[in-house]
Amino acid sequence: MFLTIRDLAKSFGDNEVLKSINVDLDKGEVLSIIGPSGSGKTTLLRCFNGLETPDKGIITFEDGLKLNFQEKIKKQEIDRLRRKSGMVFQSYNLFPHKTVVENVIEGPIIVQKERKASAIERAEELLAKVGLKEKRDFYPHQLSGGQQQRVGIARALALKPELMLFDEPTSALDPELIGEVLTVMKDLAKEKWTMIMVTHEIQFAGEISDQILFMDGGYIVEQGSPQEVLKAPKEERTKQFLQRIL
Ligand code: ADP
Repeated sequence: MFLTIRDLAKSFGDNEVLKSINVDLDKGEVLSIIGPSGSGKTTLLRCFNGLETPDKGIITFEDGLKLNFQEKIKKQEIDRLRRKSGMVFQSYNLFPHKTVVENVIEGPIIVQKERKASAIERAEELLAKVGLKEKRDFYPHQLSGGQQQRVGIARALALKPELMLFDEPTSALDPELIGEVLTVMKDLAKEKWTMIMVTHEIQFAGEISDQILFMDGGYIVEQGSPQEVLKAPKEERTKQFLQRIL
């Protein structure tokens, strides 16, 4: 198993946002987290890369990294956790005063101390992969939201992560720009990237995911294959949610 999560919990003050979360993910799998607003999806995603620190629970990776949040976590373990994943945010978070290629090489050069020439070479390959080779020297404000988000994906990939995390990557986009971002994500899934995404694109999640987690009120109410969770949900709450949005 590439990643296992056991009995993870997280509160903000009195608000128990995640309750006894268990997840198993194999290498090359795509996992989608769905559920109503406020159910804890983003908080869970942020726990996978240390942007949020759980109160309890154990995160284990197959290479031996094991974080038990009931014990004191060493900074170097959190650093190792962070380095494993690339995160794509809802709001792109590109540096506005840097060009597309400069945005993509920033992480490899600053964080990973890569040499500029090789970082640029790789950035150009990644920009070609997301269909933005010709936008290399543009600034973010000269791009559409869909193009900015594809730069966001290239930038996350540039860090050579083992795991790609997507936090509602299309929810800030105009409807006609959503498809181009989903196409890039679908290509990554075909290339067998290990991916976890929070999404409202249920149909898309059904197409590319190996596993779906349906969350409500901080719990995983139902988890399984897209066929199980989306087509033949067992739980009433899942049925109601799907009825509302499909
Ligand atoms: P979802 O992604 O399913 O919409 P979130 O994980 O964003 O849900 O939020 C779950 C709950 O946690 C909400 O009640 C939200 O208000 C609360 N929450 C999220 N982040 C914080 C934070 N940094 N501080 C306090 N409360 C938070």
